[in-house]
Amino acid sequence: MARKGRRGCDCQRFLRNNWLLLSTVCAVVLGEWGRTETLSTLESFYCVAALDSSVSGKIGLRAVVYYFCTTVIAVILGIVLVVTIKPGVSQKADEIDRTGSTPEVTTVDAMLDLIRNMFPENLVQACFQQDSCKRNILFLFSNTFLGFNLQNKTKEYKIVGMYSDGINVLGLIVFCLVFGIVIGKMGEKGQVLVDFFNALNDATMKIVQIIMWYMPLGILFLIAGKIIEVEDWEIFRKLGLYMATVLSGLAIHSVVVLPLIYLITVRKNPFRFAIGMAQALLTALMISSSSATLPVTFRCAEEKNHVDKRITRFVLPVGATINMDGTALYEAVAAVFIAQLNDLELDVGKIITISVTATAASIGAAGVPQAGLVTMVIVLSAVGLPAEDVTLIIAVDWLLDRFRTMVNVLGDAFGAGIVEKLSKRELEQMDVSSEVNIVNPF
Ligand code: ASP
Repeated sequence: MARKGRRGCDCQRFLRNNWLLLSTVCAVVLGEWGRTETLSTLESFYCVAALDSSVSGKIGLRAVVYYFCTTVIAVILGIVLVVTIKPGVSQKADEIDRTGSTPEVTTVDAMLDLIRNMFPENLVQACFQQDSCKRNILFLFSNTFLGFNLQNKTKEYKIVGMYSDGINVLGLIVFCLVFGIVIGKMGEKGQVLVDFFNALNDATMKIVQIIMWYMPLGILFLIAGKIIEVEDWEIFRKLGLYMATVLSGLAIHSVVVLPLIYLITVRKNPFRFAIGMAQALLTALMISSSSATLPVTFRCAEEKNHVDKRITRFVLPVGATINMDGTALYEAVAAVFIAQLNDLELDVGKIITISVTATAASIGAAGVPQAGLVTMVIVLSAVGLPAEDVTLIIAVDWLLDRFRTMVNVLGDAFGAGIVEKLSKRELEQMDVSSEVNIVNPF
């Protein structure tokens, strides 16, 4: 009994002894974050307000043209690469078994199944998984963590959760409710059972706690075991090629396309500009969010690359929301990859649809981690691919997200540099006529 609450007591003691230190750290971190965020937001309002409306209109138009052109180029680049490399196409012709004996499940079946499962025929049997459920759970596991089942992708997983022949959770819940109500009404006699089940629950929770501590090690061995068992390495080839396609597209876009546009318009060394943005790019790589990187992007663009604040405060926040070249490229590649896995022929019309929807989906994606994965659904539905097929690429998305966020941030930064150059005349006129005299209070 004394041991039972030990962990809780340790935790309480730690909090009690260190509350001053903890609250100071929290206050400093929150205060620092709040100060930076508030200052940069206030400063942005100030700088943008300092532009007159005709100038800000012109700057805005230039920024939008830049965003649109670079996003479309990124999508085209992605599509050219994925159609050429064909990461999702099987090498062996007979590899995908699509004769699938998947039963057609109608809505009425589903409803009836729900009612049937509320009253299990055999309570013990209801507690155990049967074969197809094991397959489904393995499917979900391998799909999420490793993507093993890409080649066996049938509609099998759609019947997960219908309790058709897996653990009948619904039936167990109904039984437990009835059982609980009955023993609750039995008074003294029922109390023995209540105490028994409480003790059983405590013991089970204790075991679960111990298992949780060793879980990382267990998962490691589980995955290692699965990898050793794999007989067909084709799936790794496909996912590897898919990743290589996205990464090479991102690399070409950030090392060739964007610098070339910058060189042609600004006539300065684009790589020096990119090095000036290094801190923001690294931040984007670490946190996978272009919006959260914004304060660092401001600082690098203004202090290292000396881009006018009236431009950065206008172009960068909008860019972080709607200009996502990396995301657009990735969405296009991922949609074509999934189509290839599904053996779907892509004609010109479908490719154009993917390009347009990938552009729209990238504009709609928020600058937060893995937002692109969510808006992928738009692209998939547009060409008639099942929306749940995004699960096929979840396993590797956390890594790709970091690199596409870097490209998103780099695209915004180059955009600020280019728009500044194109708007130089207006900015100089404003300075000379002193109609707008920025005295920055920050
Ligand atoms: N994480 C990306 C960003 O913040 C969005 C995405 O593509 O998921 O820019």
